[in-house]
Amino acid sequence: MQRHFAQGELIAVLTTQPLDRALDYKAPEGGVFEGAFVEVPLGPRKVLGVVWGEGEGGYDLAKVRSVIRVLDAVPMRDEMKTFLTRIAQYTLTPMPAMLRLATRAPGLGDPPSMRRIYRRGTTEEPDRWTDARRKVVAVLDDFGGLAFTLKELAEMAGVSTSVVKGLVTQGVVAEEGSPRDLPFQRLEPGTTQVALTDEQAAASEALTKGVATGEFGATLLKGVTGSGKTEVYLEAVAACLEAGRQALVLLPEIALTSEFLTRVEARFGARPAEWHSGVTMTERRRVWKMVAENCADLVVGARSALFLPFQSLGLIVVDEEHDTSYKQEDGVLYNARDMAVLRASITGAQVVLASATPSLESWANAEAGKYRRLTLTSRFGAAVMPEMHAIDMRAEELPGSRWISPTLTKAVTDRIEAGEQSLLFLNRRGYAPVTICRACGHQVGCDHCDARMVEHRFQKRLMCHQCGETKPIPHKCPSCEAEDRMAPVGPGVERLAEEVKALFPDARIAVLSSDLFGSARALKEQIEAIASGGADIVVGTQIIAKGHNFPLLTLVGVIDADLGLQGSDLRAAERTFQLMRQVSGRAGRAEKPGVSLLQTFQPEHPVIRAILSGDEEDFWRAEAAERRAAGVPPFGRMAGIILSSPNVQDVFDVGKALAARSEPLRRIGAKVYGPAAAPIARVRGRHRVRLLVKADKTAPLQAALADWVAQIKLPNNLRLSIDIDPQRFY
Ligand code: ADP
Ligand code: ZN
Repeated sequence: MQRHFAQGELIAVLTTQPLDRALDYKAPEGGVFEGAFVEVPLGPRKVLGVVWGEGEGGYDLAKVRSVIRVLDAVPMRDEMKTFLTRIAQYTLTPMPAMLRLATRAPGLGDPPSMRRIYRRGTTEEPDRWTDARRKVVAVLDDFGGLAFTLKELAEMAGVSTSVVKGLVTQGVVAEEGSPRDLPFQRLEPGTTQVALTDEQAAASEALTKGVATGEFGATLLKGVTGSGKTEVYLEAVAACLEAGRQALVLLPEIALTSEFLTRVEARFGARPAEWHSGVTMTERRRVWKMVAENCADLVVGARSALFLPFQSLGLIVVDEEHDTSYKQEDGVLYNARDMAVLRASITGAQVVLASATPSLESWANAEAGKYRRLTLTSRFGAAVMPEMHAIDMRAEELPGSRWISPTLTKAVTDRIEAGEQSLLFLNRRGYAPVTICRACGHQVGCDHCDARMVEHRFQKRLMCHQCGETKPIPHKCPSCEAEDRMAPVGPGVERLAEEVKALFPDARIAVLSSDLFGSARALKEQIEAIASGGADIVVGTQIIAKGHNFPLLTLVGVIDADLGLQGSDLRAAERTFQLMRQVSGRAGRAEKPGVSLLQTFQPEHPVIRAILSGDEEDFWRAEAAERRAAGVPPFGRMAGIILSSPNVQDVFDVGKALAARSEPLRRIGAKVYGPAAAPIARVRGRHRVRLLVKADKTAPLQAALADWVAQIKLPNNLRLSIDIDPQRFY
């Protein structure tokens, strides 16, 4: 039971405003519970806050203002306060920023209200049919009994809202009031059940037993793509729901949710709540409130779903747990995979990390016995893992500006003749990574970043992949002014698609790259079309590597297997290994066996050899040994410090000053490297300098970092950000 404060008692309220501490207020009339969401005055404004505890006092109490109102929302539980506090300490983030993460639903304190919804009315025909009217009725008929908001309906029909209103007047469309924030339909754990294989049954039993303990436990669920990991963890979800607790499934990519939702619906007879950036504001509010009121059994979402106000969380699944998108790279720099484990441990829930190619972190935790490890070794049914071979590009005859080797071309031709699909994978968006002037050699760069502009021919623009700035493709060289001498260098997927069209003029070709689709819906439709045989050749970036099921796909051709091995990132080998195995896993998921061909200029590179050998344990052991020897994560700790400012002198001065005053770090045995210009030394007009801190695994790094940076007064306009366990090095 949370503490109650009587009217007039002094309470501390944490607000979402960027202040360094909670502020004191007086409890309002009727008193207030600890954890309650409240509105408080701050200067001339009203702001959102949470009653954090007893006020500090120590000043003129007459001046303390009173809470304006207590919001109609379930108070924050102690476990959420603990969770936010622990992340704040771990990531060195101020608490208000943490609270913002936990309250990302507009109007969460608004009283329940009505909104207008629209569905098919009782009148069959309007007085007069128009094209626009037909479209509206078609949408309503397509979606059976579903109701829409006015805006949704008009958008889906591609008509103006007045058309809908016109149909309402005629009685063809019915307008109704509907309470907001309806509870989610209860999921039925027992609805359908597939017959699990022995291996799957063993894994499922271990997970459901874990759920039944009602205590914390972490499991690494490792299994090749198509081995039934999802099937298995859905059994754990069922057990969790049966025990009357809520479940959360995190997915790395919005594009994956719709496929997953369909599966959940088939298994549990209803759709779960959805939480990600593609969800409307109204729906976000509904999810937030229903989760808090225990009226949402299962949430499927992106990393920020960890901050939803679950009341009785029993299970968190992190699917594709190795995925880099679990690391939040803006604002609060947290890793959702790690925070899922933390949340589960605070709540007394089970956490399942599922992947075909786990992160080295999770692999090491399983090795060390911290996580239970469950393995699914074979694909379900007749499906087998694809054979993997290298194509040694040194031996292939290939003219300039062509990337598909004769060997790969032959393999694709064979598939087309057999009526099967091929996937050509290149992890590079756009048409060409570099645009160069053939007269003077000038390369077109971004005006705001130290990065070259990438040609996006589909959008007819050059784009900076750092800041998103675009400009037209120039006819004239910006440097020497020679006309029509600008030429693309190197391949992106769009250019690869052009080559594919030239090589296979009669084939049906689909290009999948995140920037080619206006909406998640369009992308989903394309993916479904491909899955049902709508393409002979798929050309795609890494968006294709994640989870999608293409039963007719039997060949994967990796255009440049060496791409990820360049660069100094400590995880380069791990990432390449994961990506290549994930992409290859797209082939041969149904009855037909698959083959994966990797084009490489260095077939004897240890990582390429490990990928081909298929001996994953060997790879992880070797990689772990190297990292252990170097004292880097997961066997040592690291923090990246990025200083950025429009003033290049400032960033280096502060960087040097930090390096010179590293005493607080040396005290814990940590080492500082740098300052050095960041690999991308300027982004959005800000110069960037980085320092890297390395420490032993057990060293109290956060406290030392806080002491260290507190010594330096930062000039205006200089931003310092600390990234604990950095995943990217630029
Ligand atoms: P993963 O998550 O490991 O990639 P999935 O759970 O998606 O694997 O399983 C791959 C495919 O095989 C899915 O279409 C799934 O429905 C099917 N499948 C897996 N196990 C079974 C089973 N025991 N019975 C029937 N179908 C299964
Ligand atoms: Zn830029």
